[in-house]
Amino acid sequence: MTTDTDIEKIKSKIRDIPDFPKSGIIFKDITPILKDPELLKLSIDKIKDRISNIDYVVGIESRGFIFGAALAYAMGVGFIPVRKPGKLPYKKKSISYSLEYGIDTLEIHEDAVEKGSKVVIVDDLLATGGTAFATYQLLTNMGAEVVEAVFLIELLVLKGREKLSACKVTSLISY
Ligand code: AMP
Repeated sequence: MTTDTDIEKIKSKIRDIPDFPKSGIIFKDITPILKDPELLKLSIDKIKDRISNIDYVVGIESRGFIFGAALAYAMGVGFIPVRKPGKLPYKKKSISYSLEYGIDTLEIHEDAVEKGSKVVIVDDLLATGGTAFATYQLLTNMGAEVVEAVFLIELLVLKGREKLSACKVTSLISY
């Protein structure tokens, strides 16, 4: 875990919301960071500093869109959305994965990446790693090279990093 003062500033604005969206979950609310122009810029710049040599940023719905699109703009590369079922308009590839209770599905346009494209996956938070690993599988099945998966926040106790052992994992803030 880094102790850099910029990182501490960002961390101080993450708001814990107990029992949201359901009992027992402590939701990490990042909206106070988004609202603060200095911290929003700092978050994107800090992520950008850790990545190089990529063709696309892949953002996971929905908070991965916010950080991912800003990162893609800052890096001068394209942005690709991975979405919940039924949202993308064109032909799609999809993947289903297990959650604690039930199954979830993610989708990507079938022409979103070219074979050999170097991509970075972005989301706001890494918990169990199920969502990011499903995205990793979608992308590698299409022939893309996932260079890295980047998160603003990592919940270490849930060991999501282990599920993503096939690629480099970076987080700015860990708990
Ligand atoms: P997981 O697949 O378990 O790694 O969960 C990651 C996804 O769920 C990310 O898209 C997060 O935005 C969301 N998520 C999981 N746990 C939390 C939490 N405690 N606070 C905020 N978002 C969470």
